[in-house]
Amino acid sequence: MPKPRLESERIFGNFIGGKWTSPETEDLIVDENPATKEIIAYFPRSGKDEAAEAIEEAAKAFSPWADTPPPQRGKVLLRAANIMENRSEDLSISLTREEGKTIKESRGEVARAIDIFRFYGSLGFRLKGETAPSMEKNTLLYTTRSPLGIVAVITPWNFPIAIPAWKIAPALVAGNTVVFKPASLTPIIAMELVKALDEAGLPKGVINFLTGPGNTVGEELIMNPNVGAITFTGSYDVGSRINKVCSSTRIVRTQLEMGGKNPTVVCEDANLDEAVEIVVKAAFGLTGQACTATSRVIVEKGVTGVFIEKLLSRTRRIRVGNGLDENVDMGPAVSEAQRNTDFEYIRIGKEEGAKLILGGAIPQGREFQNGYFVEPTIFTDVAPGMRIAQEEIFGPVLAIVEAENFEDALQIANNSQYGLSASICTTNLKKAHQFAARVQAGVVKVNKPTTGLELQVPYGGIKKSSSQSFKEQGEQAIEFFTQTKTVYLGY
Ligand code: NDP
Repeated sequence: MPKPRLESERIFGNFIGGKWTSPETEDLIVDENPATKEIIAYFPRSGKDEAAEAIEEAAKAFSPWADTPPPQRGKVLLRAANIMENRSEDLSISLTREEGKTIKESRGEVARAIDIFRFYGSLGFRLKGETAPSMEKNTLLYTTRSPLGIVAVITPWNFPIAIPAWKIAPALVAGNTVVFKPASLTPIIAMELVKALDEAGLPKGVINFLTGPGNTVGEELIMNPNVGAITFTGSYDVGSRINKVCSSTRIVRTQLEMGGKNPTVVCEDANLDEAVEIVVKAAFGLTGQACTATSRVIVEKGVTGVFIEKLLSRTRRIRVGNGLDENVDMGPAVSEAQRNTDFEYIRIGKEEGAKLILGGAIPQGREFQNGYFVEPTIFTDVAPGMRIAQEEIFGPVLAIVEAENFEDALQIANNSQYGLSASICTTNLKKAHQFAARVQAGVVKVNKPTTGLELQVPYGGIKKSSSQSFKEQGEQAIEFFTQTKTVYLGY
């Protein structure tokens, strides 16, 4: 393949110790628009040395930042939120060009990142400890929270501004300094978040941003003994490796949020039109590339036929295309590799004997030849043990499994190594409560899509979806980013 002509205005650098650097070699990460294959930017393919330098800068910046009163730290986040809000349409366009999701989805994600900054910014006034009555006279017994030190933030490409925001904002307000490595597929939008913090007056070295492969930059971040905590979101394979490496080298706090195989149960008593809308949004929204996407629909036997008919007719109306077009409902897969994975699982599904009733190919038309498009795909006659019902595909591929009754549906829902999000469509209050109590998932939804989270409540999976060490989001997120001290004060 001919080497791309490097256009200097599209070459970006790292942000280390408060300075934007230029890449030193031409061996760069190529950032591509998945809807057009157009090259939109180049970023450094940094190595261990640059990562170690970023950690050093974060170490130097730690004490003054930790000593800054939390409300002042929060104000920087609030200013960064305003900066991002002023550019929100540009940020949304960048996000769609880089990741492929529709412009409406990007607007929603950018707005979420802004809200997250505001939520944690205002938390600067409320970073509380607690007091307890002492058993001894003239003794004040209380707890305080202090930061951990340097936090390594490693994030995936599918929510490339919201996930960094929900890790970086609580880390900073709690007084930590950060070294941030975004996914190599989506560095631009991650860089924009760092720029907003820089322009908001974050002191130099408090956030450091560098791009590069997981096996060099990522490895240094997890191995370096000066890093006090690692917050990671991504695949189970990488997350479990981080867990193994960290636990065999030292005691370091880790938070690992990983994959999912999220079920939606459709009961006989459900409002089926509503259930179809819920499933379509959760399965094909974001091109199925959400960790909380519905990839299994478990339907009670009495309504399977009608539900499938309605689902088919609704899914056929999904408009696939370049997400920058306001009329498009579903963008491309993020990359060629991800689309290959989608097609590989479609092949496996057919081979396993599931019935492909919709999609399974590249959509017809010239406009689809230049991007990584996949048709919304539905399999029926899926057995719970088939690979397409067990393994995370991370694409618009939905498996429909029939259940004998509610109990059977619940059992099928729980027959998974993952436990991230689960939903039920029902008009029966008893089933709704039974499901919420017994389904094995960190997030439970009733008559709502498995996707979509609110930022003010805790979030995280169970089973292989999470290290289950600390929750993200909500006020509870602060637990991961702080250590508690207990003070016994005699007076
Ligand atoms: P990956 O696990 O491939 O990558 C995640 C991040 O880890 C990237 O920044 C990647 O860098 C980095 N990385 C890769 N190898 C290493 C390594 N050896 N050491 C340290 N870091 C490394 O995930 P994807 O980016 O492909 O994201 C998709 C996955 O994320 C899905 O499994 C999805 O379910 C999960 N996810 C989970 C969420 C949750 O909240 N539970 C939310 C969103 C996604 P690089 O890009 O350079 O390879």
